Amino acid sequence: MKVLIIGGGGREHALAWAIAKSPLLSELVCAPGNAGMAEIARCVALDAADHEAVIAFCRDEKIDYVVIGPETPLVAGLVDDLKRAGIEGFGPSAAAARLEGSKGFTKELCRENDIPTAEYGRFFDAASATRYIERVGAPVVVKADGLAAGKGVTVAMTTDAALSAIDDIFAGKFGQAGASLVIEEYLTGEEASFFALVDGRNILPLATAQDHKRVGDGDHGPNTGGMGACSPAPVMSDAICRTAMDEIIRPTVRALAEAGTPYSGVLYAGLMITEDGPKLIEYNVRFGDPECQVLMMRLKDDILKLMLAATRGGLDKMSVHWREAAALTVVMAAKGYPGSYKKGSEIRGLAEAGADENVMIFHAGTARADGRLVAAGGRVLDVTARGATVAEAQRRAYASIDRIDWPEGFCRRDIGWRAVAREQAGGAS
Ligand code: AMP
Repeated sequence: MKVLIIGGGGREHALAWAIAKSPLLSELVCAPGNAGMAEIARCVALDAADHEAVIAFCRDEKIDYVVIGPETPLVAGLVDDLKRAGIEGFGPSAAAARLEGSKGFTKELCRENDIPTAEYGRFFDAASATRYIERVGAPVVVKADGLAAGKGVTVAMTTDAALSAIDDIFAGKFGQAGASLVIEEYLTGEEASFFALVDGRNILPLATAQDHKRVGDGDHGPNTGGMGACSPAPVMSDAICRTAMDEIIRPTVRALAEAGTPYSGVLYAGLMITEDGPKLIEYNVRFGDPECQVLMMRLKDDILKLMLAATRGGLDKMSVHWREAAALTVVMAAKGYPGSYKKGSEIRGLAEAGADENVMIFHAGTARADGRLVAAGGRVLDVTARGATVAEAQRRAYASIDRIDWPEGFCRRDIGWRAVAREQAGGAS
């Protein structure tokens, strides 16, 4: 089968790498892809926001299946438009993608179905949002309703910070995504991610992961798209995974099916493991980036076959197998990220750095210029390693990074610290 992957980050390189191993695949095309994906697939320029162009391309090229990496095309209804054109796509419809596209929608769904999550209020104007803040005080979390590239959330430790976040949102900082907002109770605990495949009705739990959003060691500094991740997340014991399935994932999938908007694709729950058990922080309707890289590194099965079962139904007849081992990925970014950074600096030494069979270097923002590999984005490489433990995977990833010759790049040196600490304390895995 001929597959088109939409996207060009580390997540999509990991998906391409995993899909390329499938016996079902005849040809792999990526749009736009990156320099790493170009080594295993044909890369083409295609605007994912132009659904008609994507459909025309699929028809010309006889694409059988479209795998959509990022959330924006899913929320914009690319899967629905492909379906109308008779083309299968991996991911939810626009109606089901509201789980990520509207925080207010998800909070209401949680309230109606008794799904554990932070207390909240939803507001369409600044005056009522302000009155709510004056009543509940700080710390509190203010979130723009729609997609804001991960920048729409303010964890406000003071009421002033909360009020200024409200002003920013209603002043149009996030455009239409800020037409309404959600104010949430501040939850404390350890965060972890839980992934499952869903075919509308059946749920196949995948695995857990933990990411690091802050740019600096010790989880300091500004938020980023993600500076690294590991899987499994030791905080997610079997008991907590069962509770997350029973109290959060299953009721969500059931509610969407009953509403006539069944969910299909990968469902990614961001959880806070509180003293009262797991609570939902947010849903994402696609794989995480960089969590996808560690999941693909651990997966033993044919990802394409699993994705097709999510699209066509039949996940109840599927099972999934993981390497017992852990995987960890460290993001190398261009100096200055998440602020301004330069593009075009040369990267050398990847062949030597990736020589270990337990290491894969996924590309994110890379390109070729006159045969040289150069940085072409903020997050540039995802150095991913397997190990018997998270600690071993961590050692391998950093040993590989130390062989990469890229003076204009940087990375955190402590990815996986929570998982390693739990491992060393003898916690669950
Ligand atoms: P979100 O985009 O909703 O995942 O929020 C981004 C980050 O903000 C999360 O990964 C958490 O670290 C933090 N956050 C979001 N909601 C809450 C909450 N209710 N309590 C504490 N932290 C939160």
